[in-house]
Amino acid sequence: MNEQILSSAEIARRERIARKAKKRAQMEALKVDPNAERIPYKVLLYYKYVPIADPKAWSNNHLKWCKENNVKGRILVSNLGINGTCAGPAELMEKYKEHLWADPLFKDMVFKESDGDQFTFTKLYVRVKDELVTLRVEGITVENGGQHIPPEEFDRMIENDPDVVLVDMRNKYEWDIGRFENAIPLEMKSFRELPEAVDKIEHLKGKKILAYCTGGVRCETGTAYLKARGFKDVYQLEGGIHTYGLKSPDKHWEGKMFVFDRRVSMPINKEKDQIISVCKHCDTKTDIYVNCSNKKCNQLFICCENCGEKMKYTCGQVCYEVQSNLEVEDLSPLLQKQYQSQRINSGLSVNM
Ligand SMILES: [Zn+2]
Ligand SMILES: [Zn+2]
Repeated sequence: MNEQILSSAEIARRERIARKAKKRAQMEALKVDPNAERIPYKVLLYYKYVPIADPKAWSNNHLKWCKENNVKGRILVSNLGINGTCAGPAELMEKYKEHLWADPLFKDMVFKESDGDQFTFTKLYVRVKDELVTLRVEGITVENGGQHIPPEEFDRMIENDPDVVLVDMRNKYEWDIGRFENAIPLEMKSFRELPEAVDKIEHLKGKKILAYCTGGVRCETGTAYLKARGFKDVYQLEGGIHTYGLKSPDKHWEGKMFVFDRRVSMPINKEKDQIISVCKHCDTKTDIYVNCSNKKCNQLFICCENCGEKMKYTCGQVCYEVQSNLEVEDLSPLLQKQYQSQRINSGLSVNM
């Protein structure tokens, strides 16, 4: 920085920012359990479509149980079922599974599990929603969805049937860091854009459509929507990429899988190169996601470490100018810490 004379107002402003940042860092530090790093943490991902007579009451009871047991995560409840992801020490997650299995509605719940840590989720949301995934199209019911295809059959279909077209039901930013080879992207910013996205694949109506998403829940609705739009031969990958990755890693998947928590992504392949995406600023191979540090922009983009520092964690020149009023050390220390460890609080739940 060049030498410059600062007005007293500017000095006061910077001191205020520095004080706030220090306070926030202290608060963050307080939340950290010193033993947590030694405990194995698990992340659960699950959904089930089953009628719930009183979702509000179910949700209240569940929230109470989760609070009492210190479960963190995001659980959506509707009169059609539940869709959740949560995290905690492995032992607690076993208790959570037992708790759901004890409910007659969820005695057959299938959980997808992966490794996490104390930062994977730091908050708890249990919310009643109209839909388990937000599409907002009348008359779509998952009973009319595409046929479920387990991973082994999925491989057989894409390897042997020339009529099969793979369709990625996820958002564009998820696709960017990992996808099945030869899959067709729908280029959506959120699932609500599905109707317009399907306009662009109308020409595939005569094909066998094989859809996939992270854990399967979006395909339930997505394939039902495709059928309502006149696609006849529609299938969905059972258990999503998550389940596929455990059964046949290194086969047809490329890159990493985007996840909606602070891990941001998780590896699927064991041997293949996991990075297929590049930095927005310099085209270097990387898969680190950053939310633009200009809070009014907040755009999620892929950014290498060098450009992150150089560009003050902004998405481009305009936001860089905005942020240049701040010193680098004035940026939230949490943002920098998260950036380094890829624990970006992407706040993406609303886009799913
Ligand atoms: Zn870069
Ligand atoms: Zn920006």
